[in-house]
Amino acid sequence: MRFLLVSNNRHKLEELQRILLPLGIEVVTAAQLGVSLDGIEETGDTFEKNAMIKAMAGFERTGLPSIADDSGLSVDVLGGRPGVYSARYGGEGATESQKNEKLLKELENVPDEHRTAKFVCCICCVINKNETVTARGECKGKIGFEQVGTNGFGYDPIFMVDENRSFAQLSDAEKDSISHRGNALKIFYNRISEYTEKTKKE
Ligand code: IMP
Repeated sequence: MRFLLVSNNRHKLEELQRILLPLGIEVVTAAQLGVSLDGIEETGDTFEKNAMIKAMAGFERTGLPSIADDSGLSVDVLGGRPGVYSARYGGEGATESQKNEKLLKELENVPDEHRTAKFVCCICCVINKNETVTARGECKGKIGFEQVGTNGFGYDPIFMVDENRSFAQLSDAEKDSISHRGNALKIFYNRISEYTEKTKKE
């Protein structure tokens, strides 16, 4: 079975290839198929909707079962912002560090107990017109008071998983074991396994 990954992110591709290979699934990119991913607009107001928009576009363009994900940071005291706008927060061209500083500024008068937040990741696979598989993973934490740590990316330096450590202070393996992406991937793997088992019996 060949599945398309609707993303140009090499890290996501390698991760999915590693996870789905034991199920007999080969993951390919649009570039490998000579298909463009241009013009897919993430117009949804939830992570689920955006993952579905991307996966459906991949399916329509290639006819292959298509996987897409959408993720971001949701801060309770900001009513869930930046949420689906996490990548776009801070405006066009803002660096990751500038986004973190902007968020810290927004929260400058918010005490520790009200700085709760979560990362969310939704993965969607459009198998065919009638069948989709989705999985949602979350990771709860708090927004710190300054950027700490150098690992990871994005909002990792301000996302505190406990009193002392930000996501950016964890090793990749430690982060994967508790992260929103890691959790969503575990659920996704189980659901896709059920699907491949079912199709073997048919
Ligand atoms: P996308 O789902 O790959 O488009 O990512 C959305 C945005 O959410 C990223 O650009 C980051 O700003 C943020 N984000 C998602 N996951 C993480 C994470 O694990 N650490 C830090 N930031 C993240």
